[in-house]
Amino acid sequence: GTSAAQARSAVLEELIRKDPGRFRMLTGDRPTGRLHLGHYFGTLHNRVRLQDLGVETYVIIADYQVLTDRDVADNLTGHVEDLVLDYLAIGVDPRRSTIFTHSAVPALNQLMLPFLSLVSVAELNRNPTVKDEIAHSRQSAVSGLMFTYPVHQAADILFCKGNLVPVGQDQLPHLEVTRTIARRFNDRYGNGTPVFPQPDALLSHAPLLLGTDGTKMSKSRRNAITLAADADETARLLKGARTDSERHITYDPAHRPEVSSLLLLAALCQNRRPEEVAEEIGAAGAAALKKTVTEAVNEYLAPIRARRSEYARDRAFLQRTLREGNERARAVADATLAEVRAAMNSHY
Ligand code: ATP
Ligand code: MG
Repeated sequence: GTSAAQARSAVLEELIRKDPGRFRMLTGDRPTGRLHLGHYFGTLHNRVRLQDLGVETYVIIADYQVLTDRDVADNLTGHVEDLVLDYLAIGVDPRRSTIFTHSAVPALNQLMLPFLSLVSVAELNRNPTVKDEIAHSRQSAVSGLMFTYPVHQAADILFCKGNLVPVGQDQLPHLEVTRTIARRFNDRYGNGTPVFPQPDALLSHAPLLLGTDGTKMSKSRRNAITLAADADETARLLKGARTDSERHITYDPAHRPEVSSLLLLAALCQNRRPEEVAEEIGAAGAAALKKTVTEAVNEYLAPIRARRSEYARDRAFLQRTLREGNERARAVADATLAEVRAAMNSHY
């Protein structure tokens, strides 16, 4: 559950500070739109922090996974560029970190076949995040790719032997699948030497930021405030954010999720506690809360937004970043696949 993962994350933070060289981080996003505040405080902020601590970093743009919940991937090139821009703007450094697209690394996908053989259909069926995403899917029928994408994700993480995965709460069930696959592969084929690590999830202090409609902020639910949005759009979106009918503002995530998520957002931007923000607003109510959040977000994002528009003027640099990242990822995937084939004694 989430609280166990949060406790584990605190332990991990200690270990990372002591010896960042022990860790290899893999995370990523689907190219389905621009990154938003949920991503930022759920995982992006951690990615940059760990990169800067010296953790080797891989960021995957999961383009094949766009097809899990829709029939066609619209404007894929544009969305991929948007993600690269967002990464650069928040401080992912392509000299130290490898940014790559899933489809450019065929050896990675080849890992999926042996991995599929290591999980049962019943196990895949139980995954609560897959159930939730099916409920929000644009497809009427559940595709095989939707059903198996946690296994796909295991290949994404294990191809580079990632052992640290900064993610939001929705990813915890998937990470369990990855751990299971790594363990079973080692048991079945490892001959005493494990081939894969069992990666750990690293949760942030905002593992589930809500969108303006009060459900998980998501690229594809039209409830997100993107990093790239301008100050006016941010103000407009937050003005329309769902709150509740209680006048007095209090921080109470269990009973007042919408108001509390807004308070948390302001607090994260201002590096203080949400309770403190709540006290300050108190009887001034929801309108004052939204004003505070808007100012906090716009101030926090201003330098990120400025950097983003600077990078947007240099498309050659974006393309080079991806080309070099893809090359590095391909070399790593080839080496892992060779190891897997040797362990399986296979001719596949
Ligand atoms: P989509 O709607 O296309 O699924 P998404 O907004 O859910 O997009 P993903 O690309 O699926 O974004 O997720 C990328 C990463 O961001 C994952 O680690 C996920 O846990 C994290 N994340 C996404 N939304 C949130 C959120 N609202 N709060 C915290 N973390 C989040
Ligand atoms: Mg998602």
